[in-house]
Amino acid sequence: MTHRLYYHDSSLYTFEATVLESLEREGKRAVVLDRTAFYPTSGGQVHDTGKLVLGDERELPVTEVAEEDDGRIFHFTKEPLPAGTVVRGRVDAARRRDHMQQHSGQHVLSAAFVRLFNMPTVSFHMGAESCTIDLETTGLSPKQAEQAERLANEIFLEDRAVTIRFVPLEEARQLGLRKLPPKQAGDLRLIDIADFDLTACGGTHVRSTGQIGAILLRKTEKVKQGVRLEFVCGLRAVNAARQDYGTLSEAASLYSAHIHDLPQQIRKSLEDSKSAGKAQHKFLEEIAELHAERLLAKTAESSLVVSEVFPERDAVFIKLLAQKLTAKRPNVVALLAGGLGQPSLVFAQSAGHKFNMGQLMKDAMTQLGGRGGGTADMAQGGLPAEAVDLAKLEKTLREIAARL
Ligand SMILES: [Zn+2]
Repeated sequence: MTHRLYYHDSSLYTFEATVLESLEREGKRAVVLDRTAFYPTSGGQVHDTGKLVLGDERELPVTEVAEEDDGRIFHFTKEPLPAGTVVRGRVDAARRRDHMQQHSGQHVLSAAFVRLFNMPTVSFHMGAESCTIDLETTGLSPKQAEQAERLANEIFLEDRAVTIRFVPLEEARQLGLRKLPPKQAGDLRLIDIADFDLTACGGTHVRSTGQIGAILLRKTEKVKQGVRLEFVCGLRAVNAARQDYGTLSEAASLYSAHIHDLPQQIRKSLEDSKSAGKAQHKFLEEIAELHAERLLAKTAESSLVVSEVFPERDAVFIKLLAQKLTAKRPNVVALLAGGLGQPSLVFAQSAGHKFNMGQLMKDAMTQLGGRGGGTADMAQGGLPAEAVDLAKLEKTLREIAARL
């Protein structure tokens, strides 16, 4: 069993210890020490990283720390160390401080939700960029989230003491803890935020709430057990706000607007593009109509097979044109191709006419090396952009027209 120095002092970043054993776990080297200040991943908090320094000043990076059910703590290192070696441990203090800010911030936030809305926290997750808690509730309004955020930040400003103590389970039951662990051997480790929160926890915590700095609540989402709430504390809150401001400023400069006017600007621009899209569609319809009239005018009344390649038109336009052509008169066959974007073909005939457009399209695609198909009255096909050869397209359409 490894003696956990961090249980008593969360701000201890250097220590001396003796190697008890070196072993291999899941293909990785691990060192077990008699005592450690390295925190292993547990209770929602992520492990520390750092170094083990040997007598000759050689440094072994500790990349991961994990705990075993039997109480041993594994320090994952690249190399093994013989039992009995004396090492100095150095915990990455910046990473640990960040974890303490997030974890202590979580205790305050969870307590705030219980106090304000009687919403218990059922789980806590610490990620590399943000943290989440799952609240047991059927719903959480933005206003409630804001109130809890406000209360938590006030508790930080009051700089309340955060203390650790160990009490027997029976005594702990009388104390009205926010959370009792499911099973526990020996005394319970309690984290006491003066007159605000008392809970059982094995994590590392700040000395007073002022060290957490600030908390910023971010997105919420519905999950099976309730509502998942994302938050960031301390420097992460500053970083998140800094990044948000950068993104908003960049977007605002595109509109030459103030960041607070962005939603209104974006709404306006969406409306503009929607009406521009509508107007464009109307123009396309009109142009298709004119082309349909032109094409039918130059087609012999007896054949009514229209075939044409439009190098500067896309699939949407030629489909529209095919619809206009075949709706204008019975017995029309339209064999059209567009060269804009992905080269495309549309074959269509007046409803119920005697040919099979789907089959003709399949034949054309076999010849041109594309993919397509459709019904007897309407078929579409697309060609790879690099294979477009307008002369070849025209020739293929002419040949198909000649078969009809
Ligand atoms: Zn905790």
